[in-house]
Amino acid sequence: MADFFNSVFSFLGLKLPFKFVYSNEYWMVDIGRHVFPVKKYRMLYEKVIALGAGHKDFIEPQPVNEADLLLVHTPKYIKKVRTGTLSSIELQALELPFSPEVARFFMLMTGGTIKTVEEALKTGLAVHIGGGFHHAFPDHGEGFCLFNDVAVAIEKMKHEGKINRAMVVDCDLHQGNGTAFIFSKKDYVFTFSIHQMDIYPSEKPPSNLDVGLWSGDNDEAYLGALSPHFPRIYQEFKPDLVVYIAGADPYRKDMLSGLDVSPEALNKRDRIVIENARKLKIPVAIVLGGGYTAEIEETVEIHLNTVKAAVRAWKRNPQSLVTSLIQSK
Ligand SMILES: [Zn+2]
Repeated sequence: MADFFNSVFSFLGLKLPFKFVYSNEYWMVDIGRHVFPVKKYRMLYEKVIALGAGHKDFIEPQPVNEADLLLVHTPKYIKKVRTGTLSSIELQALELPFSPEVARFFMLMTGGTIKTVEEALKTGLAVHIGGGFHHAFPDHGEGFCLFNDVAVAIEKMKHEGKINRAMVVDCDLHQGNGTAFIFSKKDYVFTFSIHQMDIYPSEKPPSNLDVGLWSGDNDEAYLGALSPHFPRIYQEFKPDLVVYIAGADPYRKDMLSGLDVSPEALNKRDRIVIENARKLKIPVAIVLGGGYTAEIEETVEIHLNTVKAAVRAWKRNPQSLVTSLIQSK
C-alpha cells in the first residue's frame, strides 16, 4: 500500500502531480465532546502519507481574510463572529460550541478551500483534507458550518477573473442549502446536490439540480439516481471548475444517514464525478464534507477512497494534466 502513489506516479515518470491542502490546526481545535469528528482530518492526512505522499505534497493554508469573506457573507455577520456576539438563536442553529478558536478553525478551512481551488486551476486537480461547509448562509451559520468555504472560494476565483463559470457537485448526505441559496441568482454557478430528503435541512432552497433520496434507498437507487446526470451536466454547463463535496455521510453506518449505501457505491460515485470531469479537462477541487460514523476510522476510509479515486482519475486521463502543467510554466 505504501507504494500506491509511487506505482501510479512512475506511470509517466512524474512526481505527485497534484497537491493536498491541510493544516495540523484542523484537528487541534477544541469543540469538546461533539459528533463533529475533527480528528478525521489528522487521520486522513496520516493515511495519505502512508500511501506514499511526501510532506512536500501538502500545502499549508492561510486563514481567509475579511475582504474574501465579504464576497459571500454580510458585514454584520462577520462582525458578530469577530466580536463573539452571535445570539443564542444563532448559536443554536450553528450546533457547535462557539469560541475564537472555532472561528479561526473556519477561517483556516475557508483559506484551505481557496488554496485547493487555486491549485486545481493550476494543475487540474487538488484535494483539501477539510472543507465542504455547505450549510452556511451569507448572514448566519448552520449545521456545523460557520462560513461557506466553497462559495467564498468560487466567488474569489470569479472576482479575480480566474474562472467564468463554476459547478458545485455536492454529494454530502445533506442538501447543500447554504450553497444553493448563495448562488440561486448567480447564473455563473451551477449547483448540483444529491441528498437524503427526509432529514436536515428541513427547508431546502432549490439547487440548479436537486436529486432526492429517501430513507432506506440502497446502492442501486443511489447510483441509479446519480449517474444519469454525468457527464451531461458538465457538457451542458461547461464549467471552468468543479468543486466536489465528497461527503462520507451517505454511508449506511453513518450516525446521521438513513440511506443503505455501501463504501463501494460511494467510491463509484467518486469515480463518476471525478473521472467524467477529467475526461472533459475540467479542473476538480475536492473537499471532504461530512462523515459521522461511531468509529471515525470508517469515515476516514471513505475519504481515503475518494483520494484514491482522484489518483486513478488522473492516471486514466493524464494528458490534460500534463498539458495544463506545461501551459502553467
Ligand atoms: Zn452532511
